Amino acid sequence: MLSDEELQMYMKVGKLLAEVRELVRPFVKVGAKLVEIAEMTEDLIRQKGAKPAFPCNVSVNEVAAHYSPPATDDTVIKEGDMVKVDIGAHLDGYIADTAFTVATGGGAEMVQVVERALEAAINAVKPGTDVGEIGKAVEETAVAAGLKPVRNLTGHSLGQWNLHAGITVPNVNEQTGQKLSIGDVVALEPFVTDGAGYVEDQKKVYIFRYLRDMPTRLRMSRELLRHVKREYNELPFAERWLAKRMSKLRLELTLRELAGVGALWPYYVLAERAKGKVAQVEHTVIVTEQGCEVITR
Ligand code: MN
Ligand code: MN
Repeated sequence: MLSDEELQMYMKVGKLLAEVRELVRPFVKVGAKLVEIAEMTEDLIRQKGAKPAFPCNVSVNEVAAHYSPPATDDTVIKEGDMVKVDIGAHLDGYIADTAFTVATGGGAEMVQVVERALEAAINAVKPGTDVGEIGKAVEETAVAAGLKPVRNLTGHSLGQWNLHAGITVPNVNEQTGQKLSIGDVVALEPFVTDGAGYVEDQKKVYIFRYLRDMPTRLRMSRELLRHVKREYNELPFAERWLAKRMSKLRLELTLRELAGVGALWPYYVLAERAKGKVAQVEHTVIVTEQGCEVITR
């Protein structure tokens, strides 16, 4: 259960994040630079008095998630690209999480399908629901349109300073035994694709999260670890956010060492196995007696 104060924090952060999303949406178009979309989004979150809960993800086409452009990325959106923008904000650790997809070419139908899947997911939420019922609603919507849900990407519950608070919400029909309760805060995020319906880890990593203090060989690694622990707690951060602290080469070396010793969790870029295009939308909801309240509407 949530206290009234906690509920107010969630409503407030959800509302401001929804405003940011709608401000950013018109800038996601052909010719726009990915890194500028990410920076604009994060700046707007800060201007509204919150902090990014994780780096803005701008994932294009078969890249499904976890791509937050590094400072040196000069990629621009091309005609026909399917662009997913996934954003999060927090107030004192209370997190809202939302995402949208822009199809700059012929992909509008896929975006409509994933939007319908999200509405079906929202409609399936009520206290006592097995989260598999939500996955069933997503899968049926995707399959009826000739598409596939991405089986190994899921929604998740949220807690204070915690982006994944223990409940996993599948995007396919499966019995999980996990049931929703009043006051649960849950990010619902269907992904649909015209590919195989699976994502795979890529080699690249641009997002990390503090895990634990560990001894390191390099002094700059120790210093960076102390910095990210203090600044971001256990929420994810971007390589880009650290780009001003040291050269790109040193930064990559340092992050690699810290991930290697288990001090940081690396979020590998996730791409669709068959290189299918992927569309995603996301809202954060709070489970109520009757169903749920969408805080990022
Ligand atoms: Mn998200
Ligand atoms: Mn999420």
